[in-house]
Amino acid sequence: MKRLKNIIKPNLVLLFATVIFSALLTSCKEDSKPKLLMVTEATFPPYEYHQNGKIIGIDPEIIQEIARRIGYDLVIEDMSFDSIITAVQTGKADIAASGITVTEERKQRIAFTVPYVMSEQLIIVPEKTDIRKPADLKGKRIGVQHGSTSDLYVAKHFQNPQRFANAALGVAALVSGKLDAVVLDGGPAKVHSARNPGLKLLPEALVHEEYAFVLNKKDKELLTKINGALTAMKEEGLVDEIIRKYEAEMKRQEQEKKKEKQSFLNALGDSIEINFIRDKRYMFLVRGFLITLQISFFAVIMGIIIGFGVAIIRSTADQTGKLKFANTLCKIYLTVIRGTPVVVQLLIIYFVIFGSVDVDKVLVAIIAFGINSGAYVAEIIRSGIMSIDKGQLEAGRSLGLSYPQTMFYIILPQAFKNVLPALGNEFIVLLKETSVSGYIALQDLTKGGDIIRSQTYDAFLPLIAVALIYLAVVMLFTHLLGILEGKLKKNE
Ligand code: GLN
Repeated sequence: MKRLKNIIKPNLVLLFATVIFSALLTSCKEDSKPKLLMVTEATFPPYEYHQNGKIIGIDPEIIQEIARRIGYDLVIEDMSFDSIITAVQTGKADIAASGITVTEERKQRIAFTVPYVMSEQLIIVPEKTDIRKPADLKGKRIGVQHGSTSDLYVAKHFQNPQRFANAALGVAALVSGKLDAVVLDGGPAKVHSARNPGLKLLPEALVHEEYAFVLNKKDKELLTKINGALTAMKEEGLVDEIIRKYEAEMKRQEQEKKKEKQSFLNALGDSIEINFIRDKRYMFLVRGFLITLQISFFAVIMGIIIGFGVAIIRSTADQTGKLKFANTLCKIYLTVIRGTPVVVQLLIIYFVIFGSVDVDKVLVAIIAFGINSGAYVAEIIRSGIMSIDKGQLEAGRSLGLSYPQTMFYIILPQAFKNVLPALGNEFIVLLKETSVSGYIALQDLTKGGDIIRSQTYDAFLPLIAVALIYLAVVMLFTHLLGILEGKLKKNE
């Protein structure tokens, strides 16, 4: 055990030093120009979408030009649509550009720039349908994107819709017959219906809207500058030109898709080509996998450190009556962390605790999952400590060892061995729990699969691939744990 500790200790210090150092490095990096952080939900073609590892489209291109004109360096981040406005409101991002409709309700919370394009809500239906006009939507299964104006409109005028993280996932559900219609903004609605031969658009729009960019109400000066640049670009005809360029690009992609449909059938080989190889889509999984591993690895370490600390405090308080105050704090920590869902904790840490600080999101996730895991590890270790016969503590003390010495050299090593299977289980849970990281716009493994899904409308292969990767990691980990258990048994 001592040997194990000697190996683990210096490595831990090194790893932590690396994380902290790289975090400092990223936050201290001085750019010559100030940074303009734009947030968007990039499954909304032609306004924003992923292509060859980049986020492109009408919005990024307009904002890029605005940034250039007002002297900023543009950085783009992809996140779920329902987090975008909060991100700007809490100061996490400078500007949101995501085909955002101007509404009175939103105006109370954030500031809009001048509008840059007219839009409308359209209805996508299957070729064969009895829905002919908007009024026919009553009582039907309608899909929308969560938090969008389509969501608000359908809930208000028809019934509760089925809410999807993004419109593409709703369209995929429509294709597989799980919905009767999808209500969606005109731009992406045209793209999605053209790409799926079994779908069509109803000619009548549900409602007309206007898009603008979103800023924090406090950033008055930035708003004035951006409005200036945007107005000039509109007058020069540049905004319309950008819109036309992407509309043409969508048409071109459609033609390409049509040709393919004629030449191949959807055999498995083609599905693999489309889902993973084309546009290097496998990179979403590779990059996502690395992020998932990074978060899980450091969160496990943090969880162990917190867990051991809390367990020692709690057991010491139980056995000696000391450390009362620390014990109360630990109890509060355990109650709160174990009593609330990890995804809520992650969102609180990101949006509230680090609200206006610019920290690396991977670091936020490590902290959130580390703190969460610590609570479970603490109780596992404590149960290990409790399982050790009280006589051993007394024996240690009578040999002249102090309480901490007895704890570290006699009780903890045995406790650790006893709870190893339970700890292993906790780490497996943790690895899989990191799959909610997409909520703070981290592109982990699950989110990587989602992005592929939203581009190919294929649910099967991307989900199976993601599941297999998690499974492989868990199996490898269980195997390694078995080896460690065997070694510890031999050392007995
Ligand atoms: N225009 C809609 C809204 O603002 C949807 C935008 C989007 O999905 N990106 O709510």
